Amino acid sequence: MGTQFLKNSNFSDQYDVNFSRRNNSKKDYGDTSSIVVVGASHAGISFVDKVRKNGFRGSLTLIDRQKGGPMQRPPLSKGFLLETSEKPNSKYLLKTSKWYKDEKVFLHTNVTVSKIDLRKKSLTFNNGKNLDYDKLVLATGAAPRMLPAAQGIPNVFVLRQPDQAMAIRKIAHSARNAIIIGGGYIGLEIAATFRQIGLEVSVVEVADRLLARVASPPVAELLAGLHQERGVVLYTGNGVEEVFQNNGLFSGVKLTDGKNLIGDILVVGIGVTPDSDLALRAGIETETTTGGAVLVDEYQLTSDPDVFAIGDVAFQRGSPLRLESIHNAQESGVRAAAAIMGKPLPAVQAPWFWSDQYDANLQSVGIVPMGDRNVYQVIRGEFPEKRASFWSYRDNKLLAVEAVRDGESFMLGKKCLEENISPDPSLISDLGFDPMAWILKNSARAE
Ligand code: FAD
Repeated sequence: MGTQFLKNSNFSDQYDVNFSRRNNSKKDYGDTSSIVVVGASHAGISFVDKVRKNGFRGSLTLIDRQKGGPMQRPPLSKGFLLETSEKPNSKYLLKTSKWYKDEKVFLHTNVTVSKIDLRKKSLTFNNGKNLDYDKLVLATGAAPRMLPAAQGIPNVFVLRQPDQAMAIRKIAHSARNAIIIGGGYIGLEIAATFRQIGLEVSVVEVADRLLARVASPPVAELLAGLHQERGVVLYTGNGVEEVFQNNGLFSGVKLTDGKNLIGDILVVGIGVTPDSDLALRAGIETETTTGGAVLVDEYQLTSDPDVFAIGDVAFQRGSPLRLESIHNAQESGVRAAAAIMGKPLPAVQAPWFWSDQYDANLQSVGIVPMGDRNVYQVIRGEFPEKRASFWSYRDNKLLAVEAVRDGESFMLGKKCLEENISPDPSLISDLGFDPMAWILKNSARAE
């Protein structure tokens, strides 16, 4: 795998740097400070990009235990799985090798940071080497949960990293029956992609509906309908009682309602745990002692004055929930880059997310509180067939907008949430009502 990335994308796992060259890099910038970032994915790269744009001239080092050039994650459950090549397509790279050279970002891949010494401000790697830092940024992301009973079986997968997606697509294109455990976004996106490949797909979800942690009931209903129309069999309110194997390979599951399903590939999409072990062992404050996110303030600063945390691994104290999205990875990286350079923090945007399933693009902005009986949705559009948006309110206060095939409503909802404007819920369903005119009128009034 590693060499495939190398050949394909012109990356080397020791790209452009060895640890002893760090001092030379300081000279290049006429600046003696060094920032080290652990985790070269959406958050880490966004930070590095922005801190350079903010004028940081010291040495910048990005470390990742993945092999080869860092790749985008969202395509891994979508277009990436449809491809059949033995090598990942370089169009999914987060940045080209030229970018790292131009920005003088030293990228070390295929190396794991195993220890942080906060007192010495030094990292230890699994190859025994050390690297000192002035400021450290933890962008270690999150690790997918596995069903304990399915652990270690060769045709059972979780999906987070490109090498896992490569392994899945290698089997998926010759498999017949896929079982997906977990009816969250990742599980449903994989289900949609597997149907496009031609597999028979079953999705098993322990909650009584899909997307129970992340989407409003009508959005879940719309997407459930979409999957059923395309032939996916949904088993909600069902857990896995037993995992079957045949000659050491996964062959099926017994559900808690007693039904047996056969499958020649199992993908487990039951959520992730923040990858905070490194921070926890160093004595940095985390939410809980195991699997809890790294606690940060609005500057993304941890309990240590020289260590920042961004992306999926971080949790801002006082926030309603930990976000797992590209927007959060990028925004938190930008915030840490401003904080380190003493620049004003950028305005906080309403959190947003997207998902693609078949021909349906879902865009969601704001947070839909789950299990709150006072929250209700107003539907705008041609539900359930075509484009529609779902406006979540508590009393008359707009909380979130989820838009399916409806980029216009998503943008309107985003603007409303960012300007703290709640269009009258009784008017939203009326397609003659123009929320934009309402926003303009209310913004003018506010000024
Ligand atoms: P990660 O992407 O998890 O990266 C963390 C990196 O840190 C990893 O590369 C890891 O190897 C490295 N690392 C960890 N510990 C160490 C260590 N000790 N030493 C060295 N390296 C280390 N979000 C959306 O908004 N829209 C989508 O459509 C969407 N689709 C997705 C589809 C898939 C299949 C997946 C997996 C995620 C998707 N997401 C989507 C979520 C989004 O990708 C994540 O929120 C985002 O990747 C988080 O970025 P991050 O940089 O914080 O963490």
